Order: sequence, then structure tokens, then C-alpha cells
Amino acid sequence: MPMQRNSRLPEGSADGESVEDTIIVTIEAGFWKRLQDVTFQAVLPYQWRALNDEIPDAPPSHSIENLRIAAGLSSGVYDGMVFQDSDVAKWLEAAGHALRCARNDETFPQTLRETLEAWVDEAVRVVARAQAPDGYLNTYFTVAKPGRRWTNLRDAHELYCAGHMIEAAVAVFRGTGDRRLLDVAIRLADHIGSVFGEEDGKKPGYPGHQEIELALVKLASVTGAWKYLDLARYFLEERGARPCYFDLERQSKEYTVIWDDAETNPAYHQAHLPVRQQRDAVGHAVRAMYQCVAMADVALVTREPELVTACHALWESVVDRRMYVTGGIGSTRHGEAFTTDYDLPNDTAYAETCASIGLFMFADRMARLDQDTRYADAAERALYNGILSGLSISGDRYFYVNPLEVVPSECDVKPSLAHVKYRRQNWYGCACCPPNIARLLASLGDYFVRAEASTVTIDHYFSGCINAELAGQRMEIELATRYPWEGEVHVLVREAPTDSVGLVIRLPGWCEDADVLLNGESIATRSAADHGYIELRRVWVAGDEITLVIPMTVQVIRAHPAVRADSGLVAVRRGPIVYCLEEQDNGPDLHLVSLAEPSAFSLDCDSELGGVTVITADGYRQSADAETLYCHDKRQLAGQACKLILIPYYAWANREPGEMRVWIAGGSC
Ligand SMILES: [Zn+2]
Repeated sequence: MPMQRNSRLPEGSADGESVEDTIIVTIEAGFWKRLQDVTFQAVLPYQWRALNDEIPDAPPSHSIENLRIAAGLSSGVYDGMVFQDSDVAKWLEAAGHALRCARNDETFPQTLRETLEAWVDEAVRVVARAQAPDGYLNTYFTVAKPGRRWTNLRDAHELYCAGHMIEAAVAVFRGTGDRRLLDVAIRLADHIGSVFGEEDGKKPGYPGHQEIELALVKLASVTGAWKYLDLARYFLEERGARPCYFDLERQSKEYTVIWDDAETNPAYHQAHLPVRQQRDAVGHAVRAMYQCVAMADVALVTREPELVTACHALWESVVDRRMYVTGGIGSTRHGEAFTTDYDLPNDTAYAETCASIGLFMFADRMARLDQDTRYADAAERALYNGILSGLSISGDRYFYVNPLEVVPSECDVKPSLAHVKYRRQNWYGCACCPPNIARLLASLGDYFVRAEASTVTIDHYFSGCINAELAGQRMEIELATRYPWEGEVHVLVREAPTDSVGLVIRLPGWCEDADVLLNGESIATRSAADHGYIELRRVWVAGDEITLVIPMTVQVIRAHPAVRADSGLVAVRRGPIVYCLEEQDNGPDLHLVSLAEPSAFSLDCDSELGGVTVITADGYRQSADAETLYCHDKRQLAGQACKLILIPYYAWANREPGEMRVWIAGGSC
């Protein structure tokens, strides 16, 4: 079926010579500046060493070495996961984003910039040499399984790795103007287009792990070539067709076994139904999210009603029924997967960092598809909680799994908790999450603000600068805030077009009392918002200032009654930050602690945890002593009032290991 091209065109020039950014967002201070500094100065150098197997006592990556072997620069055998190339690709993407930030920020350290450029250059040279003459690029098959390409799309991750390399190429090109990796990506994508499709002689296949689809949309955007969008759409269209390609492939004599115990249920790969008919988020959570991103990407271009309907249904399935309060998704480690509505166990949760990153990206596309702040609300929830929890304050320790309740002594012995770590890890044998969080944090500016036609939309609050090109005229806006610790956001117009421009600002969904001031005069409240956004459209002059005032009260949260795991429990949130109890502050046996209601809350700043706001609350602690395992005399279980110290969930496990708990017994005092 031909693509319906009734909406926006890709933005790039056909020859890919250059892409001018129509909006440049620079994060200059505050919460996100610290995170980006950590990303650029600690995370990227650390991860480069990890990819080069230079971290003592860390699981070796072997990913750069695999590329060197494939490039003929080293001898040896392939090692690591079958998708090891993708770790290098995600790091390259992060470095590309970092170098774009460096280009737009004169305070970016020059030596770091030069170091990153040298590492990117080294990696790009090796990747280019590892590419086969026909454009194929995958070290597992080149080194370990020559002659077996494309014989197990379900498990082999070839298209997944290709997608990440294409995303890396786009980011490096945008960041540096160097198109060597982009040329590699174009040859790779063209090769893939020569292998897959509905024409005679091509394979009617699609990837077991989605990723190539959204990458091809980016490649179409940067090159202006529609054929990549068509190929992305082809992969989406084929998924769910019957007979299932994965079954045909497995019955083929060419089939290559990757894992003896590979998951064969098509729902795990979201291949149980055509994507337009999918309504529930099922299977592997990261795959599901990357698919949703691509569906929304294509829907943004084609506006096909069936695709838009499916995007909405899948969004609601995830966010309204299958998401933790932290923005974590994937309730079980079995298949790293969604389970069923309202099944959100706290201790056995999977909630992979990558899955929350996928949700954040899905939210970004949905906000562009359907202007409603519910998407940015969910993105914010994931970002400040379930994503940031994947990264230590120092930047060199990580979580893959993000549970909401941890008791270390149980994790040590219970097979059902074998996936739960209570110490942050210095690397993983399957290291998908660490470079994924790096590429996200390095590219936050792309997600915080959007500029379209004569409108600038601010979805997330930060301190920094927006430079936008609106209908050929410059607009410069400065933002200043201490968010998420304080709730005032100042939006100052530095330079404006002579025509009217709409400044659209999200009011956070978790706050009902936000106020908007223009040059000191209160002009709007939530009642004036359209789907959560306040739009101010006028001819702006330099010096105009919008102030968003968001009361940052401590909120006590309850889950939907259908969430059995949270029955009778409460969680504490302030602003976008979900809080938790840690043993470090509150002693062991956190299940015996309850939050007084009502409770007085006081706030403090904890410098040990990077300057976070800590909440002190009134609580009650039941005695841990009892004479027998069971008793009928309640008086034996006496306790006493106590003070509870709550820290941001994302900051847990940055001190000595101990218990942690988000959902707390509520109502006692
Ligand atoms: Zn991951």
C-alpha cells in the first residue's frame, strides 16, 4: 500500500549535506545541568572505558573488540551478547548529542570536546571498516556466523543493532557535521531495503526487537529520503501478519539457533496482532515501547486514523493500567514484560531503565501527535523517577531493574528476586541500559521544547536558553528555575519576531493550583488551560516575562483500588519526584513503618545525595519484637511515634546497601 503523505515532509536536505537546527535548546544551570555535566564528564568517559574493557572487575563488554575483529584490525573470537554492537552505537549516539551541545555551548570544556571527538573518530573508523562491501553491518554474524545473515530475525537482533547504528549516525552527523557514519548508515539502510520488502525475492520479515523502524524515520528526516519512511512503515505493517514470519523462519533449513530457550510466543515480540489492531501493551516492555514510538512517528506523517487509534489505546493501556508510580513499566522479569492490568508488584518488579526511556520517547511523539499535557506528565514521571534511578549520582554505577521495594537479605536467597540488585552495578553482561540513559540525558533539549510554525511549546522546566527560528525570524528565550526543588519557572523573552508567536507552556497535571503571570500580572490558571497547556499568543518584545508558579506541596498518593500490591499503602510525592524510605535514614524493617495522616512535612537539603530535597514526616514504627510467630493479642505489637526521612526514589542506593520502600503503610498514628 503506498504511503499516504498528507502531512509534514521530512525536514532534511536530500543529499544530507547539512541539517540546520530550527531550534537549539541549551541547558545552562540547575538540576539538568548537573545531570548533563555528569553525563558528559563522567558517564561518557566511563562508558568508553567499559566498551573498551578497561574497567577492572566489570563484566567485559568486548563490543569495541568485536568491531575491531570484524574490521580486520584485531584477531580473536566474538564475545558478548548477540546485540553487543548496539552498546557502541548508543554510546556513539550519546557522544553525538554531547558534541551538538558542545557546539552550542561555549562553556563546554574544550579538552573534553576534543577527547570526545577523538573517541568518536576512532569508533567511526572501526565501524566503517567493519561494514561489508554490500552495506551489511553486524559483528556477530560477520565474525561468529558468516554466511548466516538474516536467518533468525526473531532472536538475532541484526535489525535492532542496525537501528541503533543509524540513530548514532544521525546524532553524530547533527553533532559534528561529519557524515562518514551517516554514509555507513545509508549504505546499511539501503542494504536492508534490498533484503526486506514485499517485492519478489525479498524477505517478508521484521525484527524480533523493534528499533530499526524509529531509526529509519530519523534517517528519512535527516536525508529527506522517503524510501526510509516507507521501509519503516513496511516493518510495522508486516508485524502480526499470518502466517507468522518467525514460525516460517524457524521451519526453514537456514534457521540459525541463537538461544535454545528463546521465547516463541508471538506476543512477546508484539507479533500477535497487526499493530493497528493492538490495544493492550503486551510482551517485552522495551520492544513494545520502541514499536509505539515508531507507530507514532509514522502516524505523525500519515495521520492514518487506525494507527492513531492504536497509539492512543496502547498509550492508555500502559499509562492508565500498567505503569508504576515511578514511571517504571514491565511487571515481571519473565520476558521482561507487561503482565495484566493493575498487576504492579513492588518487590519483584522489572521496570527496566530502557523501558521507561522507551515510554519517555513514546510520550514525546504522542505530545506531537495530540497536544495534551498527559503525555509530558507521564514523560516527567518516568524521567525524574524510573529513568534517573538507573544512574548513580557519580555516573559510574547503574541499575537495569528498578524495583519499588527491596530487602537485601531476601534478594540474596530468593530465586524470584534474582534479578533485583540492591547495589548499583559497574557494568552488565547485557549492558543495554547504561548507554541508553547516556543518550537520553545527552539529548534532553530535544524533548524539553518544541517549535512548530509560529509556536514554541515548553513541556519541561529547566534553566537555559531556547533559540528558535520561526518563519525566518529569530526568537530567543531564557528560562530560569530551581525546579524540581522549587516551583517557580521564569520565561524571559530576549529577542522576538515582529509577528505574533504563541508561547505554550505545560501546567503539570499533578498540580491543580498553578498560576501564570505575564510581566507580574496574573493572567491564567488551570481553568484557562487547553488540555493542560496555557497558550499566550502575541507580538512579544524583549523583556517580556512569563512566570509559572507551581505550588510544591507534599502529596500523599494512593493507587487505584485494583492494584493489589499497593492496597492500604501510600506513596509520597513532591512535585514530579516520588519519594522512598531507605534503611540508611530509617533503620531496618521498613514494612513496620507507617506514615501518619495527617502528617506535618518539613524539607531539608541533602548535599550527600547531590543537593536533593529530603522530606521529614510524622510516622509510627511498630515493634519488631514478638514472642511468637503468630499471636492474637494486639498489645504485643505495640510501637511508637517516629520521624520518617524520605529521599527521592531516584537517589536510592547511593550509600551503603539496605532496605528501600516506596509504598508505605498509611493512616496510622
Ligand atoms: Zn536496558
